Amino acid sequence: MNMKTVPAPSRRAILTQALTFIVALVNQRPGRELREVVLLCLLLSGGAFLQQAVADTTAARPLKIDPNLDEKSDAYMNRQSAALLAEASRTLQQLPPQFPEPRERHLGLLLLDSVLHDPQAARRPPVQTFFRTRIETALAEMEATQVHKGAQIWKLYNMGFVVRTKSVTLAFDLVSGRTAGCPDFELSSNVLARLARQCDVLFISHRHRDHAEEPMAQLFLAQGKPVVAPPQVFADRPLHASLTHLKRAAHITQSLPVQGGKQALKVVVYPGHQMGSVENNVSLVITPEGLSFAHLGDQINEGDFMVDYEWIDAVGQHHRVDVLLPPCWTNEIFRIAKGFNPRLILPGHENELGHPVDERVPFWGDAEFLQLTYPELKRSSYRTIVMTWGESVRYVPDSR
Ligand SMILES: [Zn+2]
Ligand SMILES: [Zn+2]
Repeated sequence: MNMKTVPAPSRRAILTQALTFIVALVNQRPGRELREVVLLCLLLSGGAFLQQAVADTTAARPLKIDPNLDEKSDAYMNRQSAALLAEASRTLQQLPPQFPEPRERHLGLLLLDSVLHDPQAARRPPVQTFFRTRIETALAEMEATQVHKGAQIWKLYNMGFVVRTKSVTLAFDLVSGRTAGCPDFELSSNVLARLARQCDVLFISHRHRDHAEEPMAQLFLAQGKPVVAPPQVFADRPLHASLTHLKRAAHITQSLPVQGGKQALKVVVYPGHQMGSVENNVSLVITPEGLSFAHLGDQINEGDFMVDYEWIDAVGQHHRVDVLLPPCWTNEIFRIAKGFNPRLILPGHENELGHPVDERVPFWGDAEFLQLTYPELKRSSYRTIVMTWGESVRYVPDSR
């Protein structure tokens, strides 16, 4: 575990330092009284042992994470996180993402909810190890996976998804996890660079930091890969001019070359919103194989922006949608699902650790929060598969 310790000098090093100091003093004044030298020796040795005693009590002690707990209770919370995450990992590995969701897998996801609703979760070493290990495992899978039929879809942090078909790899809202507020939680720059190498294009839904990160966009741009975003994203930054701004227009298909022009995607950028003033691209991406993926970013419809239902309710009449990637917390997720009428739904945005505890929407689907219709969606006949960080699912279209 990644426990931070206070470094302590050894007793021998302290005594050596003290003796060197006394010898230097005697050498400076050879006529110094013996009594004076002995007194100095006693004083310095006492000081050295006092310093060592203080160091002994602080050495190897982990820093307390939760200021509201005593040290023993705080250490217990680390041990409990480690134990519950290990059990959840074992359960999720035995029962990978599938529909319908086996009850035991559901319980594994609920274990994650309980660990991740500790206000200090992102600062706990077992949570950091759990997150980073899962993403690194997914990355290794991507590096080793070729798709011949359908699509492999990985869920990363928050609304981050990677979709690979036979001809292309799409990335949506890839982020490092830095909004969790703890540098030991977020992914390393090496992992981010390897992730970017695996993908052909990055779609950023909107400007919020849990969806858009400039270093990630720069990695794509440096590799000559397009980064598609609404105009508000990085609006005051030099790289804004290098972004691809497709027209935000309902149902209209636009062409987007990738892989240096070897392949082309068809893209519809629906002119979505989060609350009042945030432009949120809802991208429907159609791959060269004709498979289509709709990523909703933080689309939510309230007050003045109920107007977005004009196109949301009609997407399925204009385009076939294979996979819908909606935020789990959008208030009328069930109505949105009916509008897109997808073959498969993979929700995201659960347990965003940068949010206060009540806004980290759990896998159990908190209907009290924003009057979510997530529980109705899960009870409906729509094929909904709930995944956590680093998991993936294979989608192969049926003949429906
Ligand atoms: Zn947002
Ligand atoms: Zn968000």
